Amino acid sequence: MDLIVSPREMQDLARQWRREGRIIAFVPTMGYFHPGHLSLMEYGRTRGDRLVVSLFVNPTQFGPSEDLDRYPRDLARDTELARQVGVDVLYTPTAAEMYPPGYQTYVTVEELSRGWCGASRPGHFRGVATVVLKLFHQVQPQVAVFGEKDYQQLALIRRLVRDLDLEVEVVGRPIVREPDGLAMSSRNSYLSPEERARALCLYRGLCAARDLAATGERRAAPLVAAAREIITATPGTRLDYLGLVDPDTLEAVEVLKGAARLLGAVWVGSTRLIDNLLLKESP
Ligand code: AMP
Repeated sequence: MDLIVSPREMQDLARQWRREGRIIAFVPTMGYFHPGHLSLMEYGRTRGDRLVVSLFVNPTQFGPSEDLDRYPRDLARDTELARQVGVDVLYTPTAAEMYPPGYQTYVTVEELSRGWCGASRPGHFRGVATVVLKLFHQVQPQVAVFGEKDYQQLALIRRLVRDLDLEVEVVGRPIVREPDGLAMSSRNSYLSPEERARALCLYRGLCAARDLAATGERRAAPLVAAAREIITATPGTRLDYLGLVDPDTLEAVEVLKGAARLLGAVWVGSTRLIDNLLLKESP
């Protein structure tokens, strides 16, 4: 496995691979790998004959009061895990090279950036869309793999690719969970043992809504209320948002028709966690 830091070097290698007819699969990450990241890499391995994983804690997607400085990092461990999965290049650009002095170009996916996480984290998705577009130009993948864990991000990247005619296939992969159901996240490392136990309320809430939908309930209000009840009954947590949404536009739906996504975000102490679940109309 090669470690590449320079965007120019990454782009030169990608260009050479493309000339040789290689299929480049790409997994963008912020590192501190857990089995969710590794599942994307393993899938990427099956889709390309070259696999690039980027590890970049992107400053433009963090707000001024967010956790950029304390975001967990362990490059030595991540390097070893990536090597074990069979990654060809672990690409770790620096912020100084991604955003050199004078940098001023940003892309905004307008509607999809507004609600849900976008409402709680102003500027977040502008940073995400910008860095992903830059990474796509540097890595030149034919296939890019993202987790459904960050469902709004996935929907926004799909839209970005369509709107800007990018020649990249975007693949969304299922959420990898802890044995008790908690969605794996690098930010779970912030949780104290007590907070870790409380954090489960988000997944349990989403499951309560799914179970209610399975009994035939189709109205969004009671479905969301079922989830909210479990979260608000959990001490030490604060609900950020819950929304039953159209899987593509992420617009709130009033009634479950076919399938919808239930999105949620919860503060557990000073840690903000997100999760989501597919809800299907019961036959
Ligand atoms: P991050 O390093 O948190 O920016 O995540 C990098 C990629 O891994 C994103 O596409 C995430 O959606 C994905 N990811 C994070 N957690 C999980 C998980 N528990 N299951 C599946 N994919 C995940």
